[in-house]
Amino acid sequence: MTAIPGPLDIEIAPHLRLREVACQCADCLGRTAPMNVRLLQAWAYWRERRNSQIMVVSGFRCARHNAKVGGARESKHMLGVALDVGFPGDVDLMDDDLLGEMLACGFRGIGRSENRLHIDVRERAYFWRYLANGKHERDARAHLMLKDVSGR
Ligand SMILES: [Zn+2]
Ligand SMILES: [Zn+2]
Repeated sequence: MTAIPGPLDIEIAPHLRLREVACQCADCLGRTAPMNVRLLQAWAYWRERRNSQIMVVSGFRCARHNAKVGGARESKHMLGVALDVGFPGDVDLMDDDLLGEMLACGFRGIGRSENRLHIDVRERAYFWRYLANGKHERDARAHLMLKDVSGR
């Protein structure tokens, strides 16, 4: 039986369906996803360049849901400018090529660790690494690489 495509199946960017980025909490039920256009543009660049599947782990979060999942108080997920993503198969999330790719596509907030990847399109670039103790530290490598990409 083939399901009839509903509004949540709409592609809001290439290979990105509304349901993938919508808030999944009990109040929103996957219907709330005010995503920022710059984020969608960066995604479109990245998706075209990468030519492989990128899975969204977390997209938009309403304030209530963000608090529930322990998101940062000023989480970019509540503004619709952030995505947590993953890849099928064995992909090194700390890889320099991957980092350069994300920077070139316009992501200016990137949080990384071996098993976690956050990207966003904040105005003022900030990059960090997730530490095992739940904290994070400034990602000097990423800040350095941004200089190469932007020529500044
Ligand atoms: Zn919600
Ligand atoms: Zn995130």
